[in-house]
Amino acid sequence: MLREARDAVQLENILAPLRLRNRSIGLVPTMGALHAGHLELLRRCRAENRVVVMSLYVNPAQFGPTEDFARYPRDFARDRRLAEEADCDILFAPSDEVMYPRGFEHRHIWVDPGDLGRQLEGESRPGHFRGVATVVHNLFVMARPHRAYFGQKDLQQVQIVKHMVEDLSLNVNVVTVPTVREPDGLALSSRNVYLDPAQRLEAAALSRALDSALAEWQRGVREAAALEAAATRTLTARASSGNVDYTKVASLDTLRPLVGAVSEPAFIALAVRFGGTRLIDNELLLA
Ligand code: AMP
Repeated sequence: MLREARDAVQLENILAPLRLRNRSIGLVPTMGALHAGHLELLRRCRAENRVVVMSLYVNPAQFGPTEDFARYPRDFARDRRLAEEADCDILFAPSDEVMYPRGFEHRHIWVDPGDLGRQLEGESRPGHFRGVATVVHNLFVMARPHRAYFGQKDLQQVQIVKHMVEDLSLNVNVVTVPTVREPDGLALSSRNVYLDPAQRLEAAALSRALDSALAEWQRGVREAAALEAAATRTLTARASSGNVDYTKVASLDTLRPLVGAVSEPAFIALAVRFGGTRLIDNELLLA
């Protein structure tokens, strides 16, 4: 049976007896609007932990002033039902007052990922990763999970969370779950519902573009610019209504763009805007 908690005290009241019995606790942070990607995180979490906690919080601090915070899809009853069907034990749905007692604009202390937060997505979303890191930090403090599950779809986010865990000595194992895709390759995202039918068809170009770059990589091409050019060519050919924000090969560690031959663990990431909807995707470049 799914139990609900709305604040840290309610959550700890449920978790404390389980901690005493040494139950492993897994956390899946989400903003709701659940889809098969979230359900895959819950499935992994279920398989690897005795207790599954899913948090549901649409974090205002990670949306920019012109972003979709107000219209972000919210359906608590549906999310609750899907979490229960996925055999989640605890749904943690804190209010803004719980996460930001004095309002997020008046918060004093933030977790600032610095340069990591200014790369890639951070260039067009200033402050986004500071909002993410801060809220994930507080979720970790409140749930004190043994493991936490994040999607590779938001690879920059997972890497920042991993660095935060290391730098702030948080005792959490961060697990990256492979991206779940539609049959045509489009990565599942709560924002896909904003696409009109023509944009939806073209949106498959993101994953095709990554395939093009990966094909080059597998042929032995190592120059970052050549890999990026392969992806860009596919985007130009298949997504004529999309505006490419970036196509970048970046270091998995520093998240900085790589120039010249790739000689460290890396990934290729892209962001494309269809009207007001921004889609992102990435693939690892593994030697
Ligand atoms: P969100 O609710 O969008 O904040 O996403 C919550 C978690 O689900 C994040 O760790 C995301 O990376 C992950 N996620 C979102 N889409 C996918 C997907 N298509 N495949 C795997 N994980 C995903």
